[in-house]
Amino acid sequence: MRNLLPYSLNHNNSLIDIIDSKQEPRKGILVNALNEVSRDYSNYLSNVNNLEMMNNHVKDYERSEDLKKLKEALIHCYDSTTSPLDKLKANIKKAQPDDYAAFCQYCGIGIPSTFDHYLPKSNFPEFSVLGINLFPCCSDCNREKNDRWINDNGIREFLNLYYDSIDNYSQFLYCEITVKTNIPVARFFLEKPTMINQQDYQVIEKHYNNLGLLSKYSLLSNGEIKKAISNLRRKYQRNGTFDIKLELTDHSDDEAEIYGVNYWKASLYQGMANSTSLIQLIKSN
Ligand SMILES: [Zn+2]
Repeated sequence: MRNLLPYSLNHNNSLIDIIDSKQEPRKGILVNALNEVSRDYSNYLSNVNNLEMMNNHVKDYERSEDLKKLKEALIHCYDSTTSPLDKLKANIKKAQPDDYAAFCQYCGIGIPSTFDHYLPKSNFPEFSVLGINLFPCCSDCNREKNDRWINDNGIREFLNLYYDSIDNYSQFLYCEITVKTNIPVARFFLEKPTMINQQDYQVIEKHYNNLGLLSKYSLLSNGEIKKAISNLRRKYQRNGTFDIKLELTDHSDDEAEIYGVNYWKASLYQGMANSTSLIQLIKSN
């Protein structure tokens, strides 16, 4: 898991381009609301490191017919394809580092084929095409996250890939490998590092639980472990002094180097390196 880079060229300009591409009556409704939406954008930008505060700014769009129409028009800016919207999406993707842009950073598994609205557009239609509220992610994560973002106690339900300090977090995702009747099983778990404060760690826990990531990683590990066993067994049979533990540790470090210390494969290979029973299994036969 790595931070994504917020695409932060002029947000108002990209909104104006999208409004320009709309037809009446939506266009007129949006032009009239432009100043207010610009103020909402500034409010979002000044709260990016404290997004919980945005829960105090949920607007009641149901209180008049005009506001209902405005909400519909704002959501339509995202739901209906226009070339300025396509350009915005392409620019957000282009801003991401090539090394890990191929994977959804919510989970580290899927391909980022969709965009998640961190502040859901159902509650915050004013941010439906705000670049820093849009996160490239896989369809599984987008579906699981849906309209959730904060709980009743004001704790966020998901990590914010732009503004939580994910790249600076020390390791919190671990994997333990056990071998029963020659079958290795991977169990992933979270552990709070002392460097991460309790509130940030709560968000991490919620993120992993809400997306069901630990069990997904265990499932994906089965094939990965089998591949590693046959590869390492071959090398060990060719050369009896081959250091299996070192090889697994190197693999873990290589995964962490690109995808972060909390990437599931980095934890998996670290877990394999630490499992004497797995190394014994590789050496047998
Ligand atoms: Zn995902």
